[in-house]
Amino acid sequence: MEIARRAAGISPSPTLAIDAQAKAMKAKGIQVINFSAGEPDFDTPEHIKQAAIDALKAGFTRYTPVAGIPELRQAVCDSLKVRGLSYEPANIVVSCGAKHSLYNAMQVLLNEGDEVILSAPYWVSYYEQIKLAGGVPVVVNTDATTDFKLTPAALKAALTPRTKLLILNSPCNPTGVVYSRSELEALAEVILSHGLMVISDEIYAALLYDGLTHTSIAALGPEIKERTILIDGVSKTYAMTGWRIGYAAAPRPVATAMTDLQSHSTSNPTSIAQKAAVAALTGSQEPVEAMRCEFEQRRNRILAGLRELPGVMCNQPGGAFYVFPYIGKLFGRRFRGQVLASSTDVATVLLNEYQVAVVPGIAFGADPFLRLSYATSMTQIEAGLERFKAFVGELQ
Ligand SMILES: *Cc1c(COP(=O)(O)O)cnc(C)c1O
Repeated sequence: MEIARRAAGISPSPTLAIDAQAKAMKAKGIQVINFSAGEPDFDTPEHIKQAAIDALKAGFTRYTPVAGIPELRQAVCDSLKVRGLSYEPANIVVSCGAKHSLYNAMQVLLNEGDEVILSAPYWVSYYEQIKLAGGVPVVVNTDATTDFKLTPAALKAALTPRTKLLILNSPCNPTGVVYSRSELEALAEVILSHGLMVISDEIYAALLYDGLTHTSIAALGPEIKERTILIDGVSKTYAMTGWRIGYAAAPRPVATAMTDLQSHSTSNPTSIAQKAAVAALTGSQEPVEAMRCEFEQRRNRILAGLRELPGVMCNQPGGAFYVFPYIGKLFGRRFRGQVLASSTDVATVLLNEYQVAVVPGIAFGADPFLRLSYATSMTQIEAGLERFKAFVGELQ
């Protein structure tokens, strides 16, 4: 059987693969410490679950409008007002997770051969989604010297007449980096002067530390707003990854095209999950703050622990729930005779010999790094750091 070229070229998500391997080891009774998960370890807050139960009991089990129920689209508009953004429900398209919103956006924006600028380290799915839409990912590498941020100069240097779109992700998965307002203003200038579009993935906007505040690039002015497709969802903020509700806020023609596309693929996202999302957005935000505080404490602990390890360096992430330590100094050293040459080597040894699951940086286009998610308990973090320390101690 021949698989179409479009699908044959897809690389499976390496983060989901490692998470699956760690979970399989756990199922066999092996005490795995899992730093690979890309989702909060908290349960969905009770009042949100109750809203879904109520909806189910009330028989809210039919098709809804493709782009989401009006109530939810209004709730999304209201939540975006807090970011200084004014959208109408007609600008909002609710999809089956933010990943799906991103997919739809790329499908309606890109023509064959259009170039899309993606700064590395990048979230794994952007790269594949660009290709699936016929686009060409143009990767711009960043490093610790610019705090892993794309600079206006680096953006300009990557532009060609075929450049159509820039993907921004602040706070960033995997680096946790948060762009400031002035940094976004400088990028917006380049975007506007070259007529680009921008997809701004703001899925971690609510998970910020050190008193940082979130700025959406769309909030910088009406011109840049008309060039932005803002992506967010309930997965990370409300511990609702399994519910599959994400959304886009976009200029009307883009929102219409995304809705039309979705009408021929998934149709509406799950009816009762939409009701739960309304409860999430309009209900008490106290559970969000409680989770954010817990994440901040864990970040502080894991960052301090990693920085104590000889040969490991780590920038301080301002948001999301990942740390992205540099492990390049471990390359060339030996573990029980085996020379470690890549992030995959290090991640493999950590998983097989120390039962610690981490994602190799290469999955994000940045090899001498690892991504550790601290969406796990403090005791697991402590134990994982101990094992990591033992691993580094054994290197020759
Ligand atoms: C988790 C994640 C998403 C997707 O979230 P959904 O569960 O699909 O809503 C999108 N972007 C980034 C950067 C993420 O980490």
